[in-house]
Amino acid sequence: MKRFLTLGECMVELAPAGDQLYRRGFAGDTFNTAYYARRLLPQDWAVGYCTVAGQDAVSDDMLDLMRGHGIETRSIRQVADRTLGLYMIQLKDGERSFSYWRGQSAAKLLADDPDWLRAQLDGADVAQFSGISLAILPPEGREAFCEALSRARANGTHVAFDTNLRPQLWEDEATMRAGLRMGAEVSDTVLPSFDEEQGLFGDTAPAETIARYRDCGAKTIAVKDGAGTLTVWDHGEGTQEFQPVKIDPVIDTTAAGDSFGAGFLAGLAMERGIAEAAHLAMAVAAQVVQARGALVDLDMTDIEGAAS
Ligand code: ADP
Repeated sequence: MKRFLTLGECMVELAPAGDQLYRRGFAGDTFNTAYYARRLLPQDWAVGYCTVAGQDAVSDDMLDLMRGHGIETRSIRQVADRTLGLYMIQLKDGERSFSYWRGQSAAKLLADDPDWLRAQLDGADVAQFSGISLAILPPEGREAFCEALSRARANGTHVAFDTNLRPQLWEDEATMRAGLRMGAEVSDTVLPSFDEEQGLFGDTAPAETIARYRDCGAKTIAVKDGAGTLTVWDHGEGTQEFQPVKIDPVIDTTAAGDSFGAGFLAGLAMERGIAEAAHLAMAVAAQVVQARGALVDLDMTDIEGAAS
């Protein structure tokens, strides 16, 4: 059995359901990627999620939900004295705003036990993490986390990094920049978003984003740009450009990048080559932005058609 593992934080989501009622869900960028990878990979692949949760009922519910989606939970460590982080979505005049309670979330302990972390990565064919997975860790945790990934990579795991910048989660901008480099340096594949790179590093073209992550040692870099051109550089094939499917209207871009990452990495895992992986990724993301919410039911016929 091959194994696709994503690592990070999944939180409790409280979303407005009218009349001061809130609907409870679970959400997290790396969890979204696991969800879509499970849909896209054949059954000889296991898809697992690696995080730290509590030993309470709400943490158990999250594990149940993941298992219900076919995601393995044996890499989720449950600790007694913490629980899941939580965020609440507020709607005011049609605009969404978010409040977070995640300072003490269990997932911050993800790299506290390096032996346990290394054991989870042992035998993983693909290990995906994000800028959020790094940002939530204390500085020494980031180092231990990257060390474990680097060791896994040396043992043959394909390590993939979705940069997902969240400036408010990092101590400051310089630390965020250094953290991104640290993540990229242990990764085979990096999946940045051009607008974020432009904002943080002042890039004027995707080629500059690619050059930076190539210097960190990445072998494949896919620079997303929403509805704009997707630019992919690969050490073997050089640079290729792809145009995302035209979509009108776009309903909700939540999890566009997460599902894109799942498609791209699943494509590579199935040895489809860069162009096919890019088409698979764009086809998945196209369906995700045409529906509400992070976890969308995919029409697989349409996706296979687009990717072949
Ligand atoms: P992120 O959420 O990581 O910033 P993007 O917003 O660039 O990523 O979106 C990821 C992918 O989702 C894009 O490469 C594209 O394939 C698809 N996508 C996102 N927004 C649109 C859109 N408005 N029209 C078509 N495709 C889109």
